[in-house]
Amino acid sequence: MTRHPRLVAAALTAACIVVAAAAGEQNPGGRFAGVELTAVPAAGNVHMVTRPGGGGNVGVFAGPDGVLLVDSLFAPLAERLIAAVRTVSDGEIRFLINTHVHPDHIGGNGPLAAADVLIFAHDNLRVRMLDRLRTPRRGGGFSPQPAAGARPVVTYNDTVSFHLNGEEVRAFLAPPAHTDGDTFVHFPESDVLHLGDVFRTTSYPIIDVYNGGTLAGTVEALETAIGLAGPDTRVIPGHGVRVVGRDAMVEFLDMIVDVRDRVHDLISEGRSLDEVMAAAPTAHYDARWGQEATWTANDFVPIVYHELGGGSLYRGNE
Ligand SMILES: [Zn+2]
Repeated sequence: MTRHPRLVAAALTAACIVVAAAAGEQNPGGRFAGVELTAVPAAGNVHMVTRPGGGGNVGVFAGPDGVLLVDSLFAPLAERLIAAVRTVSDGEIRFLINTHVHPDHIGGNGPLAAADVLIFAHDNLRVRMLDRLRTPRRGGGFSPQPAAGARPVVTYNDTVSFHLNGEEVRAFLAPPAHTDGDTFVHFPESDVLHLGDVFRTTSYPIIDVYNGGTLAGTVEALETAIGLAGPDTRVIPGHGVRVVGRDAMVEFLDMIVDVRDRVHDLISEGRSLDEVMAAAPTAHYDARWGQEATWTANDFVPIVYHELGGGSLYRGNE
């Protein structure tokens, strides 16, 4: 079925306005003015739509049966997302899977739902969308409750498979890593993985303790992903401007495990969080992973310390 493009555009425009208003955006164009989205090939029938800085990367699986999206960026970017998809495929956008609940991955849900895209997500993601969202950066600020029309229509407690474009696409719950509703999307025939924000190439892992994320789950989830990947598998990170390979996941996991073990040793010596921070357990890695201003070692290490039983997340408050 082919939709009338002008009707879809009109619906999207109207929905953008409604969602932006509901989200309390004072200036919906401002933050995103001039942001250009580009679609780059991943492998097989999958592309990645990314933006400068590489946040909220979208998977685009396209073929004769239509288009399935993985994540939806921010609401004000919805029309630009559709335009980027159109550089890859003229097919109907039928399905959307949300990898997790953060606003840069579900923001376009409302406009897409208004255009009759059917939204899928894990049960836990939908539950978290029933309230305002606490997000991890900058010490955990709140963002407004997403609009009812942005919620997933179909939820699953474990796995859902899509039989589309001659392939079987599998979306499944990862261990609680970035959040407790993280979905990995595996395209075995195209040989692509979309890992949401469990895997990022731009910073230390964001373990969102406000939304059920854990260090242990992050390690386990990355081990699962590495186990699924072959030598030619292409991996879409939640954040990062390039599609990467298995080696990049191994590098990320090795870094996390090394930091974990260093912090564990310091806790074993009875060190306080202040003393652990002073010992700089991430010193080897800060140049590579600690350069994102809103998520540095000062954000990551206290979470590791707390989960390993060191004590409070907060410095000077044992
Ligand atoms: Zn996220």
